[in-house]
Amino acid sequence: MLSAPEGQAAIHISAFTAADAGDGAESTKCPSPDTTSILPWTVNRRILIVDDNPAIHGDFRKILAGKQGQQAALQQAEEALFGSAPAAATPATDFELDSAHQGQEALEKVQHSLAAGQPYAMAFVDVRMPPGWDGIETVSRIWQVYPELQVVVCTAYSDYSWDKMTAKLGSSNNLVILKKPFDNVEVLQLAHAFTRKWELNRRARLKLAELSGMVAQRTAELEAANTELRRESEERLALERQLRQAQKMEAVGRLAAGVAHDFNNILTVIHGHATMLGLRLGAEGPHARSVEEIRVSAERAAELVRQLLTFSRKRAMHFRNVALDEVVSSLAGMLRQLAGEHITLKTECVAGLPPIHADRGMMEQILVNLTLNARDAISKQGQVDIRASAVVLDSKQIGANSEGRPGHFVCLIVSDTGSGIEPQDMGHLFEPFFTTKDVGKGTGLGLATVYGIIKDHQGWIELQSEVGAGTTFRCYFPVSEQACEQPAHDGPKPASRLGTETILLAEDDATLRQMMTENLALLGYRVLASDSGPSAVEASRREQGHIDLLLTDLIMPGGMRGPDLAEELKRTNPKLKIVYTTGYSPGVAGKQASLVEGVNFLPKPYPPDKLAEIVRRCLDGETATSAR
Ligand code: ADP
Repeated sequence: MLSAPEGQAAIHISAFTAADAGDGAESTKCPSPDTTSILPWTVNRRILIVDDNPAIHGDFRKILAGKQGQQAALQQAEEALFGSAPAAATPATDFELDSAHQGQEALEKVQHSLAAGQPYAMAFVDVRMPPGWDGIETVSRIWQVYPELQVVVCTAYSDYSWDKMTAKLGSSNNLVILKKPFDNVEVLQLAHAFTRKWELNRRARLKLAELSGMVAQRTAELEAANTELRRESEERLALERQLRQAQKMEAVGRLAAGVAHDFNNILTVIHGHATMLGLRLGAEGPHARSVEEIRVSAERAAELVRQLLTFSRKRAMHFRNVALDEVVSSLAGMLRQLAGEHITLKTECVAGLPPIHADRGMMEQILVNLTLNARDAISKQGQVDIRASAVVLDSKQIGANSEGRPGHFVCLIVSDTGSGIEPQDMGHLFEPFFTTKDVGKGTGLGLATVYGIIKDHQGWIELQSEVGAGTTFRCYFPVSEQACEQPAHDGPKPASRLGTETILLAEDDATLRQMMTENLALLGYRVLASDSGPSAVEASRREQGHIDLLLTDLIMPGGMRGPDLAEELKRTNPKLKIVYTTGYSPGVAGKQASLVEGVNFLPKPYPPDKLAEIVRRCLDGETATSAR
């Protein structure tokens, strides 16, 4: 550069920016330890010389072979440029030179070097190389396959102006022009600068790729976290909606139960008096028809109250092991008649389904209610499908259903090809008295009843509907824990119902308590009668725990329920036998006690012989394993 005209040198290497030079110089002196250690293989001293004149190849080899004189000259040049000599001599003897005499050959060598994973860092390319491609054409072709190659175009003629050259090759940072005859030091400097620049470019690109990879990975992680957050928040919203709905249903249920009990008393009076009046007036009297109308209406009202009580889960149920497939098959004929001739009703049940702990009558009620609704939703021809199958659910399948839970269930599916349900009605369907049917056609208690029954069976119901396409109800019932147990009444009857054991009776209804005490005493038992949980505990304490069987109501005043009382007494008397009774559904016992009718549970009302039977059975320990 020093021997070349100064102005020219400045123009020649103008494509090599000051920033590049600074960085390059600095990292040559003090390479960053981590980048070098991460990417040691980015060191590349491979240079391709492309010239048709063999003598030029020799010149390049001499210059770049690193003779002492040239090293000294280079050092001098650097002193002049940077003011002081660099601390360490610039390494210059490690260039690896290769030659090509025509453009075509150069391209092939470049391709070969790329395929071998040993690319050239730079090339010195002569412009005139007859008879083949000239230097610019050669560079253009090489850059198509390898744009990273740093190129020094060597020319003795002004065949290409800088503008023409960039018009052909595009504006590139990887190109400088070196005028012939060239200065040796300038060649050496360019070789150092461009091989170093190649290395820095490569490192920058690798770093960039590494960074982009990290950014892409972080972005993917953030997106995944975002999706998870969105899913969780949707799930929470759905759970809140379901919770609100469940609370609303609970409140309406309590209200309905209260109204139903009061109505029952009133209806008993209306019905009783209407019956008596009817008897007095005779069938032919002038008012006989009116009295009969009153009596029949009271009966219809009583039926409504019955439904209300079912919905509010205050009706006594008779639980035992039930095979749902068998219930569906035996009811299919009746359901077909209910649906009518314009509807094809198909049932499909896997035989031998695991039993569920259920009230068979209530299962039939569910089937009837859902079939009637399906029928009403089909105006012309249509189909109703009833299926029952065993399913095992895990937490993933439950999804956002707050009532669902993992486990083994029997699923009853009733689907129809009817009108479907309008989206705005979906949230109200299970509310009592919600109906879209004409006055006199719907009471709005069908689905509320279904909902109540299913709740009482520790299950849940799911609904899917599309307007114009149809509706599907899925009812889930837990598989019975006493799956293998035979119903108590199927077993052999005890030879005797008499006994001399001590029975602690806890019953808040005085009349009933009196009757039960007398019944049991007549059979020979010693009966200690209490009107509440705490007084029963006191009685047991007085007896120092010498009690054989506790016969207790499930719900009693005084804050202590039957299962609480049983738990308290079992602490001092672990062998204590227990029988529960109630006029409500056994579901009111909650999870504290597992009740099996005829085993450890006697639903009210019951005849005296049933009481005698269950007490004797329980004392003899025939069914003690299944009772808690
Ligand atoms: P009701 O049948 O007396 O109206 P339900 O509680 O059984 O009362 O049903 C409430 C409402 O739910 C119905 O009025 C109807 O709008 C809607 N519904 C229930 N089942 C279906 C069904 N399978 N297809 C379309 N709508 C239904």
